Amino acid sequence: MNSIIPPAAIGFIGLGNMGYPMAARLAAAGYQVTVTDLDANTLKQFCEETDATAAESLSALGASSDLVITMLPEGKAVRHVLLGDGGDNVVSGLKPGTYLVDMSSCSPVDTRALSAELAEKGFTAIDAPVSGGKYKAADGALAIMAGGDKEAVEACSPVFEVMGKLFHTGGPASGHAMKAMNNFLSAGTMALTSEAVITGAKFGLDPKVMVDIINASTGRSNTSEDKFPKFVLPETFNSGFYLGLMAKDLRFAVDLAESEGTPNAFINLLSATYDKAEQDLGFESDNTELYKYLESLTASE
Ligand code: NAD
Repeated sequence: MNSIIPPAAIGFIGLGNMGYPMAARLAAAGYQVTVTDLDANTLKQFCEETDATAAESLSALGASSDLVITMLPEGKAVRHVLLGDGGDNVVSGLKPGTYLVDMSSCSPVDTRALSAELAEKGFTAIDAPVSGGKYKAADGALAIMAGGDKEAVEACSPVFEVMGKLFHTGGPASGHAMKAMNNFLSAGTMALTSEAVITGAKFGLDPKVMVDIINASTGRSNTSEDKFPKFVLPETFNSGFYLGLMAKDLRFAVDLAESEGTPNAFINLLSATYDKAEQDLGFESDNTELYKYLESLTASE
């Protein structure tokens, strides 16, 4: 299989917190990038700031691409743009051999079904979700976990390397399974560190001193080392990852544990907690605002 190297044509769908900086890096690396997004203002801004072209339609984007990347909120949107509901869609225009790479975080159970459906139609799908957030996306420092045919992942590796560090996780949907488990852990340290700091602070400890000590001790994690100093303690709550997206990822973790029949006590509890926080604070509150939600549960004197 031929490697996808510049100036190959990449179609990029979804220019949100993550897709915008990821697609910008691909354009800067010399790929011919064609983009689309439901938000017309974002689309216009992106095309003004980069050499990218706005797609006339999904089918035109598919037809002109060697590789199509989706970076959308979740799997329903991915299925909709790829296959459509009888309307405009990516696959109707695809040339044989075009790779379909979904970098969104989706349900591994649904991805297994979608990959099989696309394979039946003769298309090679790769699920390649990322970890790292919008700042690492801008720096090309994401962790990329790619599931799918080994040769196809290798052929796409020059594209992945522009955005971060590639890990091949195995067959179709394994990238999405890996991502669901990573975000279970990430959400877990957010919830645990928040409860620890809220409880200590109520007792009279200084939250900043607590975080410094946690970071020199065995309780440390990415949450305590990165998210607390940058987004929670200064109360900026601007990590760029919606709490509603994390709640969605936890629902995928619940589904995965259920489909595999594995222990799920903590996954279920965490998912229920994030669902309540989303109801309380709204989908577009920041993931780090889980701290505020948990703090609001403190008993009044
Ligand atoms: P976002 O909500 O900021 O961006 C999603 C973009 O997709 C928006 O610009 C929206 O207009 C567009 N969109 C939605 N439906 C569309 C459609 N049918 N056609 C065209 N465009 C459409 O989300 P994000 O934070 O960029 O996250 C994208 C994915 O990456 C999610 O699955 C998320 O869970 C995952 N993720 C996010 C982060 C993060 O830190 N933000 C980190 C890792 C993974």
